[in-house]
Amino acid sequence: MTTNTTTHLGHLPTPFYYYDAELLEQTLAAAAAAARPGNYRIHYALKANANPGILRAICRHGFGADCVSGNEVAHAIRNGIAPSRVVYAGVGKSDREIALALREDIYCLNCESLPELEVIQQIAREQGKIARVALRVIPNVDAHTHRYITTGTEENKFGFTLDTLPRAISYCREASALQLIGLHFHIGSQITDMGAFRTLCERVNTIQADLQAQGITFPYLNLGGGLGIDYEHPDLHPIPDFERYFATFREHLRPLPGQEVHFELGRSLVAQCGRLITRVLYVKKGKNKDFVIVDAGMNDLLRPALYQARHHIENLTSNGPLSRYDVVGPICESSDSFGQDILLPATSRGDLIAIRSCGAYGEAMASRYNLRDLIQGYFSDALPISH
Ligand SMILES: *Cc1c(COP(=O)(O)O)cnc(C)c1O
Repeated sequence: MTTNTTTHLGHLPTPFYYYDAELLEQTLAAAAAAARPGNYRIHYALKANANPGILRAICRHGFGADCVSGNEVAHAIRNGIAPSRVVYAGVGKSDREIALALREDIYCLNCESLPELEVIQQIAREQGKIARVALRVIPNVDAHTHRYITTGTEENKFGFTLDTLPRAISYCREASALQLIGLHFHIGSQITDMGAFRTLCERVNTIQADLQAQGITFPYLNLGGGLGIDYEHPDLHPIPDFERYFATFREHLRPLPGQEVHFELGRSLVAQCGRLITRVLYVKKGKNKDFVIVDAGMNDLLRPALYQARHHIENLTSNGPLSRYDVVGPICESSDSFGQDILLPATSRGDLIAIRSCGAYGEAMASRYNLRDLIQGYFSDALPISH
């Protein structure tokens, strides 16, 4: 960020999210280019950030949408994503959400339990529709990520285990209003070890081969998302290594002939383009440490409190000698902290602070806890001009 933009940012009321439109563009272009050789389709996981500015860029690159609620399905379509490119996953779809997805005629509902299939069958019959469904399978791959964001092992609530899968398949085949078109996998998030994706490929190959031996094949395969980013060094790795990610699948995945392969990337597409800009309210001298108290709190950026996540933090104003600080928010919770023992240039009241890599699961998770204002997002190419 240049001094110019920094001065510019100083005119906006803090805290706010700031999105680098150019980096977003470059990231989406890199992902699209890396997916092309495998004929892979990308569905953006809307829950990472549903800001309309982000969705406009997603649309320009021809990506579809992966939704996890009825409101996300409606929001994706309202923001220009064709219903034929929308998929919908979730363990707890309500009747109203299922009805909406069927009415909008989205590409596919990714289903996670037998009772859910029964309800979809019933609602599709009432609407006189055939529901395209895929079954989410737990492949038992440990993604070696935080336990709150790992989803591919049998010890969690998502999807069908391998021993419940045959029953679900035969149910779909008998149900008059269901058309089973594929299998869905998603093993977790912030995965940086390509070995986890390689294991996923091998499991998927085995599962598909077993089913094929019984004469069961599908036109559609969805491998979920989960590619991680570099939170420690955002400037070293501003664009995730999509080449290496998709190459892992090209090398190890054996799709059936003509099978459409989809990916649902969220974080890796949007995280690095976003910063949380906040202002220092007070620098408080503690007994053994100094606290930088900023005007952003856990309601604006929940990841540190929820996942013990660490984001790179910068002082945009000062270039004084380095010192160590705990950077904390104003909320009455001890977990309202953005980092301990952070090295920053000598910091004082009024300085602007940037918390990096906040484009994913930042603005999207913001709340009005403590009745604080809901945080706004601004794009670098659409900032109000101020003098
Ligand atoms: C959250 C989610 C994703 C996206 O995960 P990222 O780690 O952000 O890429 C993809 N698919 C499903 C089903 C999800 O729940």
